[in-house]
Amino acid sequence: MAKNTKRVGFIGWRGMVGSVLMDRMRAEGDFSGYDPVFFSTSDAGGAPPSVGVDAPPLKDAFSVDDLKTLDIIVSCQGGDYTNEIHPKLRAAGGNGIWIDAASALRMKESCIIVLDPVNRDVIERGLRSGVKDFAGGNCTVSLMLMALSGLFKHNLVEWISSMTYQAASGAGAKNMIELAKQMERITMSAAPLLADPASGALDIDRAVTAELRGDSIPTTNFGAPLAASLIPWIDKPSDNGQTREEWKGAAETNKILNTTKTIPVDGICVRVGAMRCHSQGLTIKMTKDAPINEIVDIIKSAHEWVTVVPNDKESTLKNLTPAAVGGTLNVPIGRLHKMNIGPEYLTAFTVGDQLLWGAAEPVRRMLKIALEYR
Ligand code: NAP
Repeated sequence: MAKNTKRVGFIGWRGMVGSVLMDRMRAEGDFSGYDPVFFSTSDAGGAPPSVGVDAPPLKDAFSVDDLKTLDIIVSCQGGDYTNEIHPKLRAAGGNGIWIDAASALRMKESCIIVLDPVNRDVIERGLRSGVKDFAGGNCTVSLMLMALSGLFKHNLVEWISSMTYQAASGAGAKNMIELAKQMERITMSAAPLLADPASGALDIDRAVTAELRGDSIPTTNFGAPLAASLIPWIDKPSDNGQTREEWKGAAETNKILNTTKTIPVDGICVRVGAMRCHSQGLTIKMTKDAPINEIVDIIKSAHEWVTVVPNDKESTLKNLTPAAVGGTLNVPIGRLHKMNIGPEYLTAFTVGDQLLWGAAEPVRRMLKIALEYR
């Protein structure tokens, strides 16, 4: 091991978010210039993942003594782990930078929510002033900010209503599998009718509805059928009739942007049968009546990952759907037009991969930024 080489610990690397992070880091050649150390909560002593450089056997993720030796810790293990280990590490004098995909630290004063194409200035100020805790944001909030970054930078946003269409992956790997199994059951229930050219759509609908309301469709994880349906409730109840997911809209947006005056963000968060892309229908009250061509220019010049989809059917079907966007870093925004409510009201629709910009990518990029600073 080279002297003075930084040591970076990875916890939660084999989970869903962690696997996407490892894939992106391999693709970007991110494992050079430091010594990676992999941890496990269940398999200490096991083999580390193959990342193209040597790494020791898996260390115990509950060993504060081992974690204390690290310059940087990247955790995709989940909030329970962070809540248990992070305070113990800090109490034991562990001083490394902690970068987390979970929500546990996000709203703490000591933590910065990272989304560097949007708030690199906030991150850099934090690092300079000694901040040690960084967390990726809520997937829906991060994707909305990636799409609308230009409007925020130009102070054009007075408030936003975001109606979401959120993918199964946001609820975890088991939920993604359950959605696919629900689709399989529904297809099976209608298969004889689908095979008969004489079947009518209403016959097929009756078979599908009977399956959705029956006992055999798997719903253990979602609590209700999602395939051929939707679920207008995500996470726990919060105040004022909101869910916790809806509460995060304003709380995290304003924290990420480090606003001095709160920008209200609110709406209904809905789970739909997409696999890994969240979509959002936005109503934006602007601070002034900016012309639509100016708005388009501002949005698309914010950073390299946002694209504006022309407001026509062909472009929308080709470029503005979860089927088109899943697995890519592109954050398209389209259906942009002024609303007939008034000239300061803008509507838009955006789609983004919630495992990439919604989870792994901000964490991957924060590690690179932290390595440059330490
Ligand atoms: P996950 O897939 O459940 O993985 C978490 C851990 O479970 C793994 O690191 C692994 O730890 C353990 N595990 C047990 N059995 C496993 C198996 N068969 N395959 C893989 N891992 C297994 O969790 P996640 O969905 O990636 O979420 C991690 C954190 O990121 C959570 O706090 C979540 O809220 C946050 N987050 C998630 C999303 C999302 O879209 N899912 C988005 C943003 C943030 P060991 O190796 O130590 O056993």
